[in-house]
Amino acid sequence: MKANKEIPVKKNEKYTVKVEDLTHEGMGVAKIEGYPLFIENALPGEEMEVKIHKTGKSFGFAKAMKRLTSSQNRVELQDENYTRVGITPLQHMSYPAQLDFKRQQVRNVMQRIAKLPEVPVFETIGMAEPWGYRNKAQIPVRKIDDKLTTGFFRKNSHDVIPMENFKIQDPKIDKAILVVRDIMREFNVKPYNEGPNTGNLRHIIVRRGYYTGEMMIILVTRTPKLFPTSKILPAITEALPEVVSIVQNVNPTRTNTIMGDENIVLWGRDNYRDSLLGNTFEISARSFYQVNPTQTEKLYQTVLDYAELTGEETVIDAYCGIGTISLSLAKAAKQVYGIEMIEAAVENAKNNAEINEIDNVTFETGLAEEVMLQWSDEDMKADLVVVDPPRKGLEPSFIEAVVKMQPTKMIYVSCNPATLARDLALLNEGGYSVEKIQPVDLFPQTHHVESVTLLVKK
Ligand code: SAH
Repeated sequence: MKANKEIPVKKNEKYTVKVEDLTHEGMGVAKIEGYPLFIENALPGEEMEVKIHKTGKSFGFAKAMKRLTSSQNRVELQDENYTRVGITPLQHMSYPAQLDFKRQQVRNVMQRIAKLPEVPVFETIGMAEPWGYRNKAQIPVRKIDDKLTTGFFRKNSHDVIPMENFKIQDPKIDKAILVVRDIMREFNVKPYNEGPNTGNLRHIIVRRGYYTGEMMIILVTRTPKLFPTSKILPAITEALPEVVSIVQNVNPTRTNTIMGDENIVLWGRDNYRDSLLGNTFEISARSFYQVNPTQTEKLYQTVLDYAELTGEETVIDAYCGIGTISLSLAKAAKQVYGIEMIEAAVENAKNNAEINEIDNVTFETGLAEEVMLQWSDEDMKADLVVVDPPRKGLEPSFIEAVVKMQPTKMIYVSCNPATLARDLALLNEGGYSVEKIQPVDLFPQTHHVESVTLLVKK
C-alpha cells in the first residue's frame, strides 16, 4: 500500500482484477496496489471486472460485474438467490474444490496459528450427493405483499427474500415448511413484524429424523397466545403424517436469537427420534443435534477409529449434547462420563442411554471447564478425553485440567479451525503430541470446516 495510506480505489468505480486467493469464508481476494478487495462468487485465477462497493482503511469489498476468464473449479450457480442470502457461499465452487479448500483451511491454521506445520491433515471426507442434507430448517416468517411469507434473510440484513426450495435441506423439510405456511395463511396467523416488534409468528422450525422420518415442528412466536390451535394442529398433523411433535417456543424479545426460553408442547411428544451408528436418540426442541446425519456417522466413526478402545478404558466425553458420541463410545469402553451444560440435553442423554440399554455411561450437567477441573482435583483418571466444543473452542482452564489429569489420548472434534489450532498449540505445550487431523465435510456448499484430531500423551 502507498506510504500515505491513501486508498488506491474509489467507491462505485470499475477495475479489472485477477483473483489470487480465498478468505476462510470463501470470498475471492484480489489486490490493487497491495490493497485487498474481497469479492463474492470469485475463484483464484479468474480475471474479472469488479465494481467497488465499500472501502475501509485496509481492505475493501467489490462486486463481480463481468467475468473475463473462468476457473476450472467453477460450476454453474444453482440460483442467484442463494448467493444473496448466503446459505450456500461455495455454490460456485466444484465439490472436489470445496473439499480441497477445507483441507487447506486446516493446513493454513496449523501452520499460521498452531505452528505445527508437520501434522498430517488428510483429504476431507465428502458426500456422494452434497445437496439436500440438512435435517433442520429455521425459517423466518414475515409479511410480504400482504401475505404471510417464508424465506431467508438477505445477507447482512433483516429483509426476508421469499424462498421455497432451500436446496441444502431435506426436500421433505422444504415441503413441510410450505404446508405449515399455507395453514398459517388459511387461519390468518399474524406474521412477526420486526421493526415495531408486533405480530406473532417469527420462525417455523422443522427437524426431521433421517432414519426414522419422525418430524418435529416448532412454531416460534412473540407472545404465548397462539391462533386457533384447535384448527391449526389437526390441519398440520393431517397434512404431514410424519409429525410426532408440535412445540410452541415463545420469544418476546427484540433479538437475532431465534428461540426464546419458554417451550409449550402443543401436540404429541416433547421430542422426536433419530438414530446414528445403530443407537436411537430422543431429541428435544432445545437440544443440539448435528445437521448432516450421514456425514455425522462418518465423523463419529473417525472418533471411534482414533479411540481404538479395547473395553478397558475410562472415557470422558465433554460437550456431549444428547450423548451421541458418548453412547457410540460406551459400547467399546469400560465406562463413559459425559459433560453438558444444557439441562434438557442431559435429560435426553440419560434417557438415550436407557433406550439403548447402555448402562456404563453417566452424564453430568455443568460447564465442561468447571467439571473437568473438579474431577482432576479429585484425582479422577481417564484414558481418553473427547471434546466437541462450540466455535469458541476450549477454555484455558479446561486445557489445564486435561494436562493435570494426564489421559493417554485426547480426541478433539472441532467446528472452527482457528480455535482448534490455538488449542492444539496449548495442548502440545502441555505434553500432548498432535498426531493427525481428519476433516469431514458436514456442511457442503458452505465454508464451515469440521475435523477430528488425535492427540497422544508424549
Ligand atoms: N457432541 C455432541 C454435541 C456437540 S455441540 C454432538 O455431536 O451432538 C456442543 C455442545 O456443547 C452443545 O450441546 C452445547 O450445549 C454444549 N456446551 C457449550 N458450551 C459448553 C460448556 N462450556 N460446557 C459444557 N457444555 C457446553
